[in-house]
Parts: sequence; C-alpha cells; structure tokens
Amino acid sequence: STPGGPKAREEKIVVTVRLRPLNKREQLAKDQVSWECIDDHTIVYKPPPHERVTQPASFTFDKVFGPACLTETVYDGVKNVALSALNGINATIFAYGQTSSGKTYTMRGITEKAVNDIYNHIMNTPERDFTIRISGLEIYNENVKDLLNSDSGRNLKLLDDPEKGTVVEKLVEETANGSQHLRQLINICEAQRQVGETALNDTSSRSHQIIRLTIESTLRENSDCVRSFVASLNFVDLAGSERASQTHADGARLREGCHINLSLMTLTTVIRKLSVGKRSGHIPYRDSKLTRILQHSLGGNARTAIICTLSPALSHCEQSRNTLFFATRAK
Ligand code: ADP
Ligand code: MG
Repeated sequence: STPGGPKAREEKIVVTVRLRPLNKREQLAKDQVSWECIDDHTIVYKPPPHERVTQPASFTFDKVFGPACLTETVYDGVKNVALSALNGINATIFAYGQTSSGKTYTMRGITEKAVNDIYNHIMNTPERDFTIRISGLEIYNENVKDLLNSDSGRNLKLLDDPEKGTVVEKLVEETANGSQHLRQLINICEAQRQVGETALNDTSSRSHQIIRLTIESTLRENSDCVRSFVASLNFVDLAGSERASQTHADGARLREGCHINLSLMTLTTVIRKLSVGKRSGHIPYRDSKLTRILQHSLGGNARTAIICTLSPALSHCEQSRNTLFFATRAK
C-alpha cells in the first residue's frame, strides 16, 4: 500500500498483530522474549545472542500491538470493521494464532468493547430503530453445535436458503433486549463452550467459535418513507493455528486431524485468495463448514479484520513465524 496514502481498495482485509506478555509458565521456564514491536506497524524477531538469522526478521502490518497494549487499543484497530455492520455491511473479526497465544482473551475483550460501542451508537442514532439478534455456534470436527441451546446435539445441518445463503438448521437466535441482556447471552455461549471443553479433551484448540450478531435497523426518513438495513457481525475465535500446519500430519495424526484442519485450512486459502483480489479466480467457500457459514460475511462487500495473536517466547518462535507468514499473505 502507499505510505500515508488512502487504502488502494476499500475491501482490503485489515490485518493486525497482538503480541502478548510472557506468561507465568514461560517466565518460570526462563523462556526469552524473542519478538518486539518497534513501532505501530512493525514487529521484529530478536534472536538470542549468536543465532544467525536466516529467516525474515521484520514484518509490517496495518497495526501491531505490543505486550503493554490494552484490548481497548486493539479494539480501536478493528472498530471500523465492527461498526460497518450498523450500516448494513456484513463484517467478520477473527482471532488467529497458535494455542495459548491469546485468541480467546483477545476475542472476548473485542466482543465486549464492540457491544459497548454498538449500543453507544444506537443511543446516538435516535432516528433509527435497531434490533439486535444473537446466535452462537461451535464447529468441532466439522460438526456444528448450538451454543445457545445445550439440547441441540453436536451435528446441526447446513442448508442453502435461496434468500439468506447458507443457514444452520435449527440454530437458536435470540433477540437482545438491550446491552445487558446481550452480554448475558454472550456469556451463555462462552459457558456452553467450556462445558464441551471438559467433556472432550482439548476442544478449544481444535474448535472454532462464532458469535454472530444480526443488526437490523429502520430509518424513518419521513412519515411514509422507511429505509432498512441488516447485516451480520461475526466474532470468530479460531482453532489453534498449529492445526493448519501440514508438516507433521501423517497417518493416524492426519486422519484424526483432517476434519479439524479442514475448516482452518480452507479459511486460510479463502483469505489468501481474497487478499489477491480479482485475479484469484474460484474461492472455495463451499469446502468447509466454517467458510460456508461465513461466506456472505467474507469477501464481496463484506469487511474483514484479522487479529493475529503471538506468544513472545523463544520456544514458540516457529509457530509465531508461521502466524506472521499467514498474516502477511492475508494483507
Ligand atoms: P488461546 O485462546 O489462543 O489458546 P488464551 O486467550 O486462552 O489463548 O490465552 C492464554 C493465556 O494467556 C490465558 O491465561 C490468558 O489470560 C493469557 N493472555 C493472553 N493474552 C494476554 C494479554 N494480551 N495480556 C495478558 N494476558 C494474556
Ligand atoms: Mg482459546
């Protein structure tokens, strides 16, 4: 992109990186910080003494957030994408990164800030009547589970609706009566996800969670002229990105892992193709559940933001670099 200039394409994917602080375990293990954000756009690899660096060591993005940054600051980087849903433009915000890099921590914070911001805008837009509906789902092994309905079972069907596109059969959608109620419903989704986590080993690293807000509004332009807007805003906490790496997948590992990887790998392909733009040809949305469900909120007129989360630890250096390569290809 042109330095300081306007974005070349309005539909460009916003790509940001968040580097978390070393956690207790990493500190106890005397793990070293191996990445540093040197300005608002650049993150660099800090090799240990005597290491010869043969890989790219500096990466540039729309925004990078260092370990001291609050979620509020991270939210500012994706705010425009979130708020576009108020004006009828579908939007998706992803957290992408290896397990324990801070995806859930970041996505929960971002969802909370977005909800506050959305209700502030609603308060300041009295000329429009808003309705917000919420649904929540988890994709585990290409099986879709309803996070607002614990009796739904684990394998909801996807249907093709001529008007709405891909819909999840029987997925519960609740209408929020204000911000407090919406937060409660989001908490139910989070709690439901944790129930699954204890029942099935390690689900959070293998599953994708989508919280979808559908924001509808009508504008009374005069007594008999009404314009209406509707859009989805998706908050997506992805499976650990180590599930996307094909390098160690063989035999039983591959059979066990292939479904888990399918949604993540298809998503990375879709995002790479979208970032290339018109020249990219066929975009394989239909190859996985995740990309089918998000199809109308990715590409086209939709707006997308990706927050790539990183551990600063030297011991995670390889995965961090993989995450930054993914982030670079998404730009
Ligand atoms: P993931 O969802 O990617 O597996 P988590 O969000 O669960 O990772 O984060 C792993 C741990 O690190 C959690 O204990 C979380 O509270 C902590 N953590 C993550 N990001 C940050 C951050 N930016 N600042 C402080 N602690 C963080
Ligand atoms: Mg998580």
